[in-house]
Amino acid sequence: MTSKRIPFICGNWKMNKNQEETYTFIHDFLKRIKQSPSLEGREIGLAPVFTSLFVADSLLKHAKVKLCVQNVHWDDSGQFTGEISPTMLKEFCVSYAIIGHSERRKFFGETNEKINLRVKGALKNNLKVILCVGETKEERATGKTKDVVKQHLLGGLKDISVAKINESIVIAYEPIWAIGTGLNATVEQAVEVHQYIRELLDEHFEAGLGQKVRILYGGSVKPDNIDGFMAQGDIDGALVGGASLDVDSFIRIADFR
Ligand code: PEP
Repeated sequence: MTSKRIPFICGNWKMNKNQEETYTFIHDFLKRIKQSPSLEGREIGLAPVFTSLFVADSLLKHAKVKLCVQNVHWDDSGQFTGEISPTMLKEFCVSYAIIGHSERRKFFGETNEKINLRVKGALKNNLKVILCVGETKEERATGKTKDVVKQHLLGGLKDISVAKINESIVIAYEPIWAIGTGLNATVEQAVEVHQYIRELLDEHFEAGLGQKVRILYGGSVKPDNIDGFMAQGDIDGALVGGASLDVDSFIRIADFR
């Protein structure tokens, strides 16, 4: 790390782990990380499913590990079947909401406009946001990676102030072709896009902002490739799906060297 950006490793459990499994994982995880002084100075987060929030909250409210959620609606209440509002999350110790994950975009038709509303709703309620951006395999193959990342970033952050971005937004660059496929981006591919995101932040918001905002890499991060990513000054952490479901694996990732 070349700057003061605090490394952040966040597990996204997607639609996995019931309450009992959540309890067992977090209980074990907290016990194990107490014995790992090397994790000091790093931020670690876990995003369980909503039905496990109560259990996760009861274990994490006095712990350093941050409770995160996998999505959030923009309104406080109303006729939005199946959604959870940001004010409801205030009943729990939720710190971050993942917004704009590619699975939400792909399977649930989330647009940049809707994602922007979600980001605004979260920020209004003092939730921090992990905003996901990233291209498909076809978009990369046809040279559209930067265009897509730009649309996701500027669309998601539309009308958000520089101050808010600085204090409350984390970007996760997640090439879709690398998510859950075992095919991680190379370190060079990831760094190129991370640097591009920093340039966009400088150009479209404020010079210097790009060096302040944390940018995570996500896409088949594993214990055996995390060190390579984290050795890059432009990569501030990882959003981890499959490899965050196992305590040993997630601890080794959080304990990157
Ligand atoms: C993710 O869900 O954000 C992700 C990166 O998944 P995986 O690590 O399994 O590729």
